[in-house]
Amino acid sequence: MIVLLLGSGGREHALAASLAKSPRLTRLIAAPGNPGIAEHAELRDVSVDDLDGIVALAKAEAVDLVVVGPEAPLVAGVVDRLADAGIKAFGPSGAAARLEGSKAFTKALCAEHGIPTAGFRHCRDAASAHAAVDAFGAPVVVKADGLAAGKGVVVAETLAEAHAAVDALFESAGAEAVVEEFMEGEEASLFALCDGTTALLFGDAQDHKRAYDGDEGPNTGGMGAYSPAPALSPAIAEDAMARIVRPTVKAMAEAGTPFVGFLYAGLMLTSDGPKLVEYNARFGDPEAQVVLPRLKDDLLDLLIAAVDGDLAARKPRFARETALAVVMAAKGYPGPHEKGSEIRGIAKAAARPGVTVYHAGTALDGDRLLAVGGRVLAVSAIGADAAEAQMNAYSAVDLIDWPEGFCRRDIGWRAAAQAEE
Ligand code: ATP
Repeated sequence: MIVLLLGSGGREHALAASLAKSPRLTRLIAAPGNPGIAEHAELRDVSVDDLDGIVALAKAEAVDLVVVGPEAPLVAGVVDRLADAGIKAFGPSGAAARLEGSKAFTKALCAEHGIPTAGFRHCRDAASAHAAVDAFGAPVVVKADGLAAGKGVVVAETLAEAHAAVDALFESAGAEAVVEEFMEGEEASLFALCDGTTALLFGDAQDHKRAYDGDEGPNTGGMGAYSPAPALSPAIAEDAMARIVRPTVKAMAEAGTPFVGFLYAGLMLTSDGPKLVEYNARFGDPEAQVVLPRLKDDLLDLLIAAVDGDLAARKPRFARETALAVVMAAKGYPGPHEKGSEIRGIAKAAARPGVTVYHAGTALDGDRLLAVGGRVLAVSAIGADAAEAQMNAYSAVDLIDWPEGFCRRDIGWRAAAQAEE
């Protein structure tokens, strides 16, 4: 089977490494890919935003299945475009990807189907958003609607902060806001593999969004993650599947927009049980780099079953061990950062048992590996528990010689402390 993988991040490197293990794979092509993905795939220089280019590439290479990593091409409808051209793709249609693309859409779906989530109001002007803030009281959450890549959310401790957030948001033309009740609890992520009607639990994880140790500093795309999430017991995960994920997949099918792909549920584990914070219509990054190394089954086989609507009899299995990934980013990230510094020592780090170094913002210049992005590497390690996985990951991180980079030194602190108890 010839597979085309779309994307160029650490998540796609993890997908490529898993797909490459499948006996059903004959060729793996990646667009645009990165130097890590190139160890498993032939790279093609087509951007994920170039939908015409992707369809043309899939046709020219007689691709049997396209696997879409990132959200932007999904929301832009790449799966629909491929379907029109008669090409199978793993990922949701543009209509189904609205679960990620529009917070208002998802909140309305939750309200209609009794799916547990924070109370909310969708506000199209500043006056109604200010009124909603006053109605909920502080603390309260103000979100921009649409794809804001984690930058459009203000968790306001005070009313003054919330009103200021509303004013800032409505400064841009066409802005819409979702004002939400504050949910108290620990956050965890759950992944489901979906075929349009069936949703199967596909691992869980917790991540660290803040840039600096102690969960301080600005929000980022994610500085590290671990799987499984100790806070998400099998009973809570099953509860979340039964009351949140499966009703969502059923509602999407009934609306004529079935969800095929990875559905990523961001959950708040409240004293009233798990509640939905948000959906993403694809795998997480760096969560893929800790969930996929634990998968014991053939990923390609499962993705084909999902696309064929044939998941009902499947049950993905995961190793009991913990995987933990530390993201290495360019100094300054998520703010301005230099490009072009050299990274050494990756082979030494990757040679340690159970360690994989996933590439994100890297590029080759001859045989020199250069940092060309914000988040550059994810060093992922397996251990018997979170404490051992953490030790293994940092032993590997310490072998990487990249003075212009930084990482957090406390990824998995909560899980590691629990494991040591
Ligand atoms: P991202 O995709 O990066 O997670 P996003 O823009 O889609 O960000 P959300 O996930 O909805 O935004 O919110 C970002 C963060 O804000 C959440 O991970 C959570 O920590 C916090 N948050 C959001 N909504 C609530 C809420 N109702 N109560 C408490 N915290 C919340």
